[in-house]
Amino acid sequence: MGARPSGKLVYLSEPEQLEIKEYDVPEPEPGAVLTEIEQANVCGSELHIWRGHHPEVKEGVLGHEAVCRVSELGDGVETDFAGEPLEEGDIVAPAYFLTCQRCAPCRNGQFNLCENAYKFWSKPPEEPPHFHGTFSTHYFIHPDQYFYKVPEDVNPNVAAAANCALSQMLYGLDEVGVGWDDTVVVQGAGGLGLNTIAIARERGADTIVVEGIDGRIERAKEFGVDHVIDFREYGTVEERAERVRELTDGVGADVGVEVAGVPEAFAEGPFLLRDGGRYLEVGNVNPGINADFDTGTLTRKGIDITTAIRYQPWYLRKALRFLSKHGDDYPYEDLIDAEFDLVDVEEALAKSDTREITRAALHPHSHAD
Ligand SMILES: [Zn+2]
Ligand SMILES: [Zn+2]
Repeated sequence: MGARPSGKLVYLSEPEQLEIKEYDVPEPEPGAVLTEIEQANVCGSELHIWRGHHPEVKEGVLGHEAVCRVSELGDGVETDFAGEPLEEGDIVAPAYFLTCQRCAPCRNGQFNLCENAYKFWSKPPEEPPHFHGTFSTHYFIHPDQYFYKVPEDVNPNVAAAANCALSQMLYGLDEVGVGWDDTVVVQGAGGLGLNTIAIARERGADTIVVEGIDGRIERAKEFGVDHVIDFREYGTVEERAERVRELTDGVGADVGVEVAGVPEAFAEGPFLLRDGGRYLEVGNVNPGINADFDTGTLTRKGIDITTAIRYQPWYLRKALRFLSKHGDDYPYEDLIDAEFDLVDVEEALAKSDTREITRAALHPHSHAD
């Protein structure tokens, strides 16, 4: 073998402290795949980690959303996780977490909860194979990490986000159950909310979004939401609940989806639903932040609550196929509104943090390097 290529990565040493580090790129171990990053996205959870608020990931190589180009296959790798033949140069999307198949949740088939999900992501960059995150020129897909070829009719620019919000909401809406003619009330129109609207519509459901920011309301409309409840206009839980009833023949929504990420939204959920409704909690992920919750109303209304943290990894394939089938019907391509070189990651994070931009993409290979 000749000399190994070298690559760069973005390392978070402590909150808001970033360094660009350079390492030789190791060969992939058996079962692993070495890739080059085509595009990585700045996600809400990156901002969360960058500020030091993530409960598990405090330092490490940043980045989890990406599409990658296969550059070397480890021994024994001939296909992706759907059995599609794989070769160098193929564009793939990896799940951003591992599924060890040995921990307690994995042994019970709950791969979304794998205790070793972030075994590599949170490792220090000195430790081979160094390229543990997607804010990098290179990325290692580990033997326990699901990945799929991106269908040729899916724009890589759109596919770069498939391994996060879209996969998670496809999984979540399966968990809570959304069917034909259901009414789904979506609390929040960020990335998770927009994907919820698209998926619910494709299932023949009616959608109502509760939101109070103009830009987000506009996006929700572009994604085809049926009704908007602007919480600047409907200022109390009672007013919003009443409005949902007006829109649902007086009964309330069949399904509620919390993707606002504030505990008060969760506490409001039961009031927006019909008796016997179903509720999916996704947005609140910070332990130790509480809201007053009316448990009696929950019980009396007979509401089922379920959660979706990450996703069963095969949902990534469903997400890519969803984009192949329906991607053109929604303005997915407009969701990225700023593009940066990898070395300008600081600016990308800062501008995302102040919401000067909505969604930033990083292109590690846009410079000759
Ligand atoms: Zn993400
Ligand atoms: Zn596991």
